[in-house]
Amino acid sequence: MYPFTLTKASDTAEALNAGRRGGRYIAGGTTLVDLMRETVERPETLVDISALPLREVTVTERGGLRIGALVRMAEAAAHAKVRTTYPVISEALELSASAQLRNMATIGGNIMQRTRCTYFRDVTAACNKREPGSGCAARGGFNRTHAILGTSESCVATHPSDVAVAFAALEATVRLLGPDGARSIPFADFLLRPGSTPNREQALRKGELITAVEIPALPRPLKSGYLKVRDRQSYEFALTSAAVALHVHGGVIREAKVAAGGVGTVPWKLPAVENHLIGERPSRALWAEAAKHAADGARPLEHNRFKAELLKRTVERQLRIVGGTK
Ligand SMILES: Cc1cc2nc3c(=O)[nH]c(=O)nc-3n(C[C@H](O)[C@H](O)[C@H](O)COP(=O)(O)OP(=O)(O)OC[C@H]3O[C@@H](n4cnc5c(N)ncnc54)[C@H](O)[C@@H]3O)c2cc1C
Ligand code: SF4
Repeated sequence: MYPFTLTKASDTAEALNAGRRGGRYIAGGTTLVDLMRETVERPETLVDISALPLREVTVTERGGLRIGALVRMAEAAAHAKVRTTYPVISEALELSASAQLRNMATIGGNIMQRTRCTYFRDVTAACNKREPGSGCAARGGFNRTHAILGTSESCVATHPSDVAVAFAALEATVRLLGPDGARSIPFADFLLRPGSTPNREQALRKGELITAVEIPALPRPLKSGYLKVRDRQSYEFALTSAAVALHVHGGVIREAKVAAGGVGTVPWKLPAVENHLIGERPSRALWAEAAKHAADGARPLEHNRFKAELLKRTVERQLRIVGGTK
C-alpha cells in the first residue's frame, strides 16, 4: 500500500466538493481497496460516502423502483418490493460474490466495479485499460474468460457485474449528481465499450456521484429471473449469464427484455432475441429459435470459442425457466 488521505463526507454537498477537487469516492470499499493494495489504482484522496442519505429503495412516481446508490447488495436483494416486482434483480444479486461481500458492497459500487481480467490486475503485464498504449496481454495470452461481444483491438475484457446485466435487460436509468447539477442517463449509455480508449469505462463526468438506479415500471404480469453459469457454483464470476423478463398477455408475449453477462465488454442487451419473441406464443420451439440469435456478432478468441454456444444454451434455458413450456 502507499500513503493516501481519507476524508468522510457528512453530506452530499461535502462529497461533491471533495469529488470536484479530484477525490475518489469509496462506498463499501470491497473492490477499490483491493485494487489499491495491488497498486492497480493509486488515488491520492478517498472520500468516504457511506454516511450519505442514498440508502433507500422507493417506488417512483411512475410505479418503477428507485434503488439508492448506497443500498447494500444484500439489502436490495432482500427488499420485499425488489423481490416481488423484479426477482431478476434479487437473483442476480444473490448469485454475486459472497454473503460477507454482499453485506458490505453497494449498488453504486457494484456497477462501477472494474474488470476481473487477470492481466489488468497484474501490474507487470501489458494492459491498455490500466496503462493506455501499453498493449493487451490477454489477446495473445490465456483468454478463456474474456469477452466475445463488444471487443476492440485494444481490449477484450468482460464487465463482471451480475446485477448490471439485470439493469441492462430492464432498461434502467442511472441518476447522477455532479458539480453542474443532477442528470440521468440510460443504463445502456452508462458503461462504455472499450473502443480505442478502454481506460474510459463509464460516462461519468469529473466529480459525479451516482445517487440511484431507477427501474422503469413494466406492464404486469411480469415474470423475470437470472441464470448464471460459472466454473463453480458459488463465489465465482459468470462464464455466461442471462437476465430475462417476459410480459405475456392473452397467451402472447407482449414485452421481452433479455440481456447477457460474462460475454460482453459491457452487459450485453439482446434485441435480436427480444424481437424474435415479441408477438409470439410461448413454446419450447420459440425459446430455441430466439436463443439462436444470442451470439449474433460474436468474435471469439483462441480460448473462449465455447462461449458462443454456451451463451445460446444459457439464454434458451432461462427463457424456458421464466416463460415455461407447453
Ligand atoms: C472475491 C470477490 C468476488 C466477487 N464476485 C462478484 C460476482 O460474482 N458478481 C458481481 O457482480 N460482483 C462480484 N464482486 C464485486 C463486488 O460486487 C464489488 O466489489 C462491489 O459491488 C463493489 O461495491 P462497493 O460498494 O464495495 O464499491 P467500492 O469498492 O467502494 O467502490 C468501487 C468503485 O465504485 C466507485 N463508487 C462507489 N460508489 C459510488 C457512487 N455512489 N458514485 C460514484 N462512484 C462510486 C468507487 O470510486 C470505486 O471506483 C466480487 C468481489 C470480490 C472481492
Ligand atoms: S483485455 Fe483489457 S483489461 Fe485485459 S489486458 Fe487487455 S486491455 Fe487490459
